[in-house]
Amino acid sequence: MTDYPALQNLQLEDKDSLLDIKTAQDLDAQDTLSKFRQAFAIPTRKDVAGEKPNFEKESELDEPCTYLCGNSLGLMPKQTRTLVNQEFDAWSQRGVEGHWNHPFNRPWATVDEQVKDHLANLVGAKPVEVTAMNTLTSNLHSMMTTFFRPTGDRYKILIEAKAFPSDHYAVSSHLEARGIDPAKGMLTIAPRAGEYNLRTQDILDTIAGDPSIALVMLSGVQYYTGQFFDIPTITEFAQEKGCVVGWDLAHAVGNVPLKLHDWQVDFACWCSYKYLNSGAGGIAGLFIHEKYAKDTSRPRLAGWWGNDKENRFEMSPVFRPSEGASGYQQSNPNVLATISLMSSLQIYEQAGGIDTLRAKSIKLTGYLEALLHTTLEAHFKADRIRILTPSDPQRRGCQLSLEFPHGMIDVFDGLHAYGVICDERKPTVIRLAPVPLYNSFADVYRAVMCLRKVMDQVYPSSH
Ligand SMILES: *Cc1c(COP(=O)(O)O)cnc(C)c1O
Repeated sequence: MTDYPALQNLQLEDKDSLLDIKTAQDLDAQDTLSKFRQAFAIPTRKDVAGEKPNFEKESELDEPCTYLCGNSLGLMPKQTRTLVNQEFDAWSQRGVEGHWNHPFNRPWATVDEQVKDHLANLVGAKPVEVTAMNTLTSNLHSMMTTFFRPTGDRYKILIEAKAFPSDHYAVSSHLEARGIDPAKGMLTIAPRAGEYNLRTQDILDTIAGDPSIALVMLSGVQYYTGQFFDIPTITEFAQEKGCVVGWDLAHAVGNVPLKLHDWQVDFACWCSYKYLNSGAGGIAGLFIHEKYAKDTSRPRLAGWWGNDKENRFEMSPVFRPSEGASGYQQSNPNVLATISLMSSLQIYEQAGGIDTLRAKSIKLTGYLEALLHTTLEAHFKADRIRILTPSDPQRRGCQLSLEFPHGMIDVFDGLHAYGVICDERKPTVIRLAPVPLYNSFADVYRAVMCLRKVMDQVYPSSH
């Protein structure tokens, strides 16, 4: 049992108690965060299980689905509908006046301030260091414009070989825009042969070994494997070697605790529709360390919303940037998206913030891991399933990436028909992400029991 470090937190006696649904129910009963589940709209199994739902009883169709997909799109907080509707009220009742005179006291001229402090808390930053703006990939481009200053000797960007494709494309196209051949300018790093995750030491050795790296831009939590990188160690080391260090926190924000200010991270970008539950295409986030708050020496992609608030509406042709991250805003922010984000961030704060959520998350994912290993022991032994994600809870967030060397899509379809919503990444991976804000131990239990049934259907010879 103690093979899985996270399990020690659950204080379970033996394998039998792990396999008992009563354990899941007890863990849910002890969970002080369980009440937040009802703050979210959970789709029914009927609505998501596809055309061939697989249920024994008709009545099961109306039950909530088992949603383990918050890594891809977070569920909707129920209050979001009310809060966004208030913006429609403001618009219909006040028109342009809503910018200054807002019936719910959220004037649009400063709507971004509704999320600034929340975002700062979430990523361990000072308010001056963060802002909500644009979308993730466009913010990566914006930050590369400012922080990637290639010279003849230093002109490379280091990213993961299996970085999210958008990051790959962004880096590649950005290099091209600067007249640098991506084949020379993009340096990628992959796990060792036979391994799934990058070793911190290998990352450091790569950085030490190539003095032409100008920018290190890795992801905080790897989208494919779920590995949580050692951000402070890598940041400090790369900066010592003369690199600028930016992080893509798409899968880290709202998932793991971050201390971006203390870690001296130069910049970071994230989207908000995954763990931050802001809705598809929601407004993204940006962190720029305080050390650059008054730095106007670097080029930036400027826009009127980055101009000092005090004289933004003077419409002067001379750009006077706001201090800090806000000075990089380009357009007036999408109000519906910003309020939708605010709604979810309020719930994060009511739940006690990221450290409280993380404590539950470590238990929940540890429970998932242990239950998978015990329930599917024979399938693990036969190498029909593997876990790619690090087993050390400190080196991962809530997501576990399962690899199915053969038949992944059949397994995925089988889970789907049971109303277990997760996602697949071809060719072989299914990602399961139990989210501490709205997932229960009973969700995890059901997902694993469904997976066992599916595995026995997909690999009938195995039992
Ligand atoms: C989700 C994700 C994206 C998506 O980019 P958008 O600009 O929000 O569409 C990019 N990079 C990473 C690492 C992601 O996880």
